[in-house]
Amino acid sequence: MPFSLKGKSAVLFDMDGVLYDSMPNHSKAWTQAMAHFGMKMTPEDVYLHEGCTGRATVARISLRERGHETTETEEQDIYDYKAGLFRAMPAAPVMPGAMEVFRKVRQAGLQILIVTGSGQKNLIERVQRDFEGFITRDRMVTSFDVKRGKPYPDPYLKGLSIAGVPASKAVVVENAPLGIRAGVAAGIETIAVNTGPLSDDILLAEKPSFLLHSMQELADSIDSLLS
Ligand code: CA
Repeated sequence: MPFSLKGKSAVLFDMDGVLYDSMPNHSKAWTQAMAHFGMKMTPEDVYLHEGCTGRATVARISLRERGHETTETEEQDIYDYKAGLFRAMPAAPVMPGAMEVFRKVRQAGLQILIVTGSGQKNLIERVQRDFEGFITRDRMVTSFDVKRGKPYPDPYLKGLSIAGVPASKAVVVENAPLGIRAGVAAGIETIAVNTGPLSDDILLAEKPSFLLHSMQELADSIDSLLS
């Protein structure tokens, strides 16, 4: 059966790489921060880990690069350093097409929620200003709200509980392989929007229901998906 949004009542949007074109900044900040602590992290690593909490990312790269576990303090220190570099960068633009998607989803009467692995307080506040009227903090799941981040289903399950809908009535919009894995693990049909440099195959391996290449493409096709 072709993918459809018919009968859905909530859309759960990821933030980085979906609502903001922020991944190039994250990529620079991560590679520089890890290099500062003597570890190599490539831009591809950044996209492959995207969606994980910052500390989980540090833990995985550290294990690979140094062969030993990190302490919680060390994870936090490295993540804080990365977050500092990220904050110093020019603000990432809103993803082209994202506002139009929000408008059309709202018009169709579906709930809008944001489910992000981000712990960037400035971006979590900014999203509420940039998408004012569409999103408030109580409609967001961030790294502050769950113990286990993506690729675990927990953030999306929490999103379902806030929306008050079963998985079958929701749709996830994600750009990252681990984010897609989290949505699928929560039992939610997931739209992959491949806005980064990874090949489609890497995203398709996580079994999204549908794959597009930009939020503008989603905006352009959403009316037909809804009918
Ligand atoms: Ca993302």
